[in-house]
Amino acid sequence: MSKRILVTGGSGFLGSHLCDRMIEAGHQVLCLDNFFTGRRENVEHLIGHKRFELLRHDVTDPIKLEVDQIYNLACPASPIHYQYNPIKTMKTSVMGAINMLGLAKRTNASILQASTSEVYGDPEVHPQQELYWGHVNPIGIRSCYDEGKRAAETLFFDYHRQNGVNIRVMRIFNTYGPRMDPADGRVVSNFIVQALKGDDITLYGDGLQTRSFCYCDDLIEGMIRLMEGGEIGPINIGNPNEFTVKALAETVIELTGSSSKLIHLPLPSDDPKQRQPDISLAKKHLDWEPTVQLREGLAKTIEYFSSL
Ligand code: NAD
Ligand code: UDP
Repeated sequence: MSKRILVTGGSGFLGSHLCDRMIEAGHQVLCLDNFFTGRRENVEHLIGHKRFELLRHDVTDPIKLEVDQIYNLACPASPIHYQYNPIKTMKTSVMGAINMLGLAKRTNASILQASTSEVYGDPEVHPQQELYWGHVNPIGIRSCYDEGKRAAETLFFDYHRQNGVNIRVMRIFNTYGPRMDPADGRVVSNFIVQALKGDDITLYGDGLQTRSFCYCDDLIEGMIRLMEGGEIGPINIGNPNEFTVKALAETVIELTGSSSKLIHLPLPSDDPKQRQPDISLAKKHLDWEPTVQLREGLAKTIEYFSSL
């Protein structure tokens, strides 16, 4: 049955892929965005579609809509963007969650929160299981994002316990793919853009910190399964194959055939040393696991950036 789906942050990287999937599935899509890091180009192909509507709105302001499901993705995700105006980042996570949970309560809609592996901070438990409470600096430069997302999770669970709101909490691990903004500042887009231009590849610190990279199509499939299933979470969604940032740089150089050199820049403070999702819960409850591995996903992403 066709549902009315609200996607906040819908013109961003992940939001735009979700809008595509929802339109393909025959739903009506309300894409809400303040265009801070989102781009109209990401959803341009949907403008004019009879089941697609684009709303310029900020989630820190309340809004009245009639919807069946809410995917709450509004929040800058790249460190340079969420640190640009940290107070606004915190407001987006906290006030955005309150406004969207209020809307879910009034309309009886199911609501999914795009939470993050950053709730685990610089983790002392490896790989990270959902039961782990994390190791987060409350007063550092990443805290506006980490603590904002943690507070949003709290609000989701309190609205669930106190008001019976039908929630889903998804903890997303580093995800990449086409439609990342070339100037976004995250590691995969930075390295690909640098390699394609023949610029130096900027390794922060020694480059031996690790991340586990998930391709966007896999991530969106996990997100939809979580919304449609019976589990509320929190559930980790990510690709458990872990790489050093240096290994990522070398793979990008190889796949682009670039002559770029690796250079080292200072490591930003509180940069997590390691990160890998334990996805046992996603496998068990959602029958989900990633299908696109790094080289294949990077090749598709390189193709996208080359075409820009
Ligand atoms: P993105 O920056 O491309 O998208 C975020 C979108 O939210 C943008 O379109 C932006 O304009 C919009 N937005 C920001 N503040 C807003 C506000 N106050 N009101 C309305 N819209 C606002 O990032 P993304 O990678 O697509 O991330 C989407 C969501 O997933 C975010 O909530 C992010 O925290 C979460 N997440 C992403 C990753 C990842 O690796 N991509 C990892 C963990 C969590
Ligand atoms: N990073 C890097 N060079 C860059 C951008 C990022 O070495 O040009 C590193 C960064 O220090 C971090 C990792 O890559 O250790 C992932 O960074 P990103 O900003 O993509 O995401 P997050 O730190 O939030 O996982």
